[in-house]
This record gives sequence, structure tokens and C-alpha cells, in this order.
Amino acid sequence: MTNLSDENPTQTDLAAADTLDVHQAVDQQLRSLQRFGLTIVPKGNGEVFNFSAHEEPTAVAPQQANAPTPTATSAAVDPPKPAAMAPVAQTPAPVSPQPPAEAPTAPAGPVDPPVSTSDPYPAIVAAEQRPASLQVISKEVTDCHRCPQLAEFRTQTVFGVGDPNARLVFVGEGPGEQEDRAGLPFVDAAGQLLDKILGACGLHRDQVYILNTVKCRPPQNRNPKQNELENCWGYGRRQLEILQPEFICCLGSVAAKTVLNTNLAVGKLRRRFHDYRGSKVMVTYHPAYLLRTSSAKKHAWDDMQMLMREMGIKIPKR
Ligand code: URA
Repeated sequence: MTNLSDENPTQTDLAAADTLDVHQAVDQQLRSLQRFGLTIVPKGNGEVFNFSAHEEPTAVAPQQANAPTPTATSAAVDPPKPAAMAPVAQTPAPVSPQPPAEAPTAPAGPVDPPVSTSDPYPAIVAAEQRPASLQVISKEVTDCHRCPQLAEFRTQTVFGVGDPNARLVFVGEGPGEQEDRAGLPFVDAAGQLLDKILGACGLHRDQVYILNTVKCRPPQNRNPKQNELENCWGYGRRQLEILQPEFICCLGSVAAKTVLNTNLAVGKLRRRFHDYRGSKVMVTYHPAYLLRTSSAKKHAWDDMQMLMREMGIKIPKR
């Protein structure tokens, strides 16, 4: 800090030594105050010194001198703070990089972390509490703006419908135009085919529960994007945690990918049961695909028969 010169050694050394002593004494005083949590010290000229355990005293911008500073009394009374908490911010906190303006989605809140398909469901929700528990999530969905593009485009959200105590839950992809208008899943032509399939099994949609992987209609009925699924599936996951169905039927590859966390095609996943947190999961073709590909209808019917057998439901004679 002090550079002793060879020139006029005696006087310079004395002056330097004096200066050094004064600096050391001040430094010592400041550091002992710092041990009591004091980090800003008025210099008397309108400026302040501010220092942390790791830094030498640093001049701080004058306007910060007006900020409340701990008094010697309060510093002595207050419990000493850990050094790591002591520094006063002198520079603005680093700003995290902004997403590009055209980013399609920006979650407005924390996105639910994914769960493993082998994680057991949380404690069972009593039958009489299920409607109210679902209502809580439904309200969150109605207010959701995690996917700004979908939120702006939607007429309304499509939460799901059916018996909260159903043994079987169908998971579809996402609302189309008619579902967006009605606020209900599977009311379009694909939905009517689903009703027919259920009827052939001797079931009505009131006896099952139907939900989608995303609750808002994707524009032009495109598939939901990965980040939209990530933003939205937490709601579906929580619906399943309340419903805890014995069986889940995934309609199409988007539902299968979302529920089972797999990229395998429907053709590779059907004809056997998978596990989702204790629910038996069957994968079959989406009714909209069946409308386009009538050769797949036979396979879908085989799948439904397998499911009914496993559920112990006798298929009525036609
Ligand atoms: N397709 C789906 O996946 N869900 C609906 O609600 C309607 C059509």
C-alpha cells in the first residue's frame, strides 16, 4: 500500500510509517464494526465506504449514502450476520437473458415438475371431495396464460368431463374447434366415434372421465408443441392424481407420449398394458385417425376388447 522511497529515507519512512499506522488503525476499527454486521461507513464528505469480508473498502455512489445505514448501536445489538449476507449490492443484479421476442411460450408461473410413471399416486382423495378438488384445478386452468399464443387464440379452456370416480380415464390430444367452442372434450366427429366405441362396449361417456393433454386449442388444429405439453400436462397429471383411475386409455401418440413419457409409436405400444403410477394404461389409435384410416378400426376394436376383458366388463352382443 505505502511505497517507501530511498530518497530522504528517515523523514519519508517516518511519514509513511505514520500513515501506515493510521490506515491500519482505521482498517482495524472498520473490520471490527464489520464483524457486527456494519458494511457501510460514512466518510464525512457525503460519501460512504462500503466493504465486505472479501473486499477492500470501496467508494459507493453518493446517492446510496442516503440509504438507511445501521447505527453503531443497532449493529452491536443485532446478531452478527454471516459474511456472505453482508455485502450491499453495488451493481445491479445480473439480469437473466431475455427470451427472443418471438418465443411462442413463456410460462407465467412455475411449471409442475414431471413425475416418473413409477411414482405412486399421492394419498387418495375421498370420493366426495373429488369434484371440489377438480374444481380447484379447473379454475387454475381457466386463468392459465402459460402459453400466450394458445391463451390468446382460445375461446375457452377445455378442462375435462366425466365421473370423478370413474375406473377408466381416456386421455386425448387437445381441443379442436368444436371443443374450443363447447368447452367440452371430444364433441366433434372424432368424439362421436368415441361415443360409438364406448356404446359398443356397453358404456356411456358419463361413466368414464375424458381429458386432454393440453387444455387449449392449438391453432389450425396442429399438434401441441413440446413446450405447450410441458406447460399444460401438470394439470392433467393432477387430475389423474385426484381420479386415480384403475385404467387409462391413451388415444393416439400425443397422449401416449405424454402419459408414458415415450416416443414409441402407437403401433409399438398397443396390445399390452403399461403402468402409470399404478394405473393400467392401454394405448390405441386416436378416433380422428380411425376416421381417416378405416383399416385401423379393427385394431382399435381389438384393443377395446382387451381393455374390457381386463376391466371385467362383458361386451354386449350386437
Ligand atoms: N381430439 C382430441 O384429442 N380431443 C378432443 O377433445 C377432441 C378431439
